[in-house]
Amino acid sequence: ERDFDRLRDKYHIQVDGEDIPPPIETFSDMKIPSPLLKFFKSKGIKKPTPIQIQGLTTAFAGRDMIGIAFTGSGKTLVFCLPLIMLAMEEEKKLPFVRGEGPVGIILCPSRELANQTYENVIAWTKALEEGGYPRVNTLLCMGGISMADQSHVMQRGIHIVVATPGRLIDMLEKKRFTLEACKYLCMDEADRMIDLGFEDDVRTIMSFFTHQRQTLLFSATMPRKIQDFAKESLIQPILVNVGRAGA
Ligand code: ADP
Ligand code: MG
Repeated sequence: ERDFDRLRDKYHIQVDGEDIPPPIETFSDMKIPSPLLKFFKSKGIKKPTPIQIQGLTTAFAGRDMIGIAFTGSGKTLVFCLPLIMLAMEEEKKLPFVRGEGPVGIILCPSRELANQTYENVIAWTKALEEGGYPRVNTLLCMGGISMADQSHVMQRGIHIVVATPGRLIDMLEKKRFTLEACKYLCMDEADRMIDLGFEDDVRTIMSFFTHQRQTLLFSATMPRKIQDFAKESLIQPILVNVGRAGA
């Protein structure tokens, strides 16, 4: 415990919540598949950033989480990696079939961010597939993508959806897929999401879930509105806050 606290102090990581998983010092402290580690290394990702040091074990433990860290601090990895691993586990258990809905959803406040996140997920799942791991199908669900392109992905069954709220609700209402297999929901840039008035859309999306889910909320800042939203939608969350001194 002492060592954990020392490590958190060293990286200015504040935590709050019950039964907080340990922080990690290196990626090899976690069971990250070696093809992915190799890929990370080739992209200059060698050592976990502070939000990754405490956030990865928290997200992997299946806990609801609020992750606060400044822009450029590597939050994407924290919420994508557990979902990719979950998708591969489910695929191993029972291969996904045509029309099958996602295991998890990543919600983004803009098309630009959704696209960037999607590109990350595609690169990481491709590296895994090339390394002999199960194929993971990811759907980018946002305005500006043709239904034909989306149908093409959906032919194989979808494991992961990266979406902006509006288009996702549209597809759920049209029953293009269900959230019957969905266990994981992440809101990225939650501060912007709330500023842009997406709160009710996120509530609508939550209402389509039929199972218990892990909910994660990531943001660069934590205004009151995020705290309130988290209180209503997360269960015994762990807060991981990597604030800059004085911020
Ligand atoms: P955030 O969402 O917190 O703003 P990103 O997840 O978009 O940050 O990451 C910002 C950049 O840092 C990306 O180019 C990403 O590849 C890179 N990155 C992520 N994790 C690491 C790491 N552990 N070491 C070096 N670079 C990293
Ligand atoms: Mg980000």
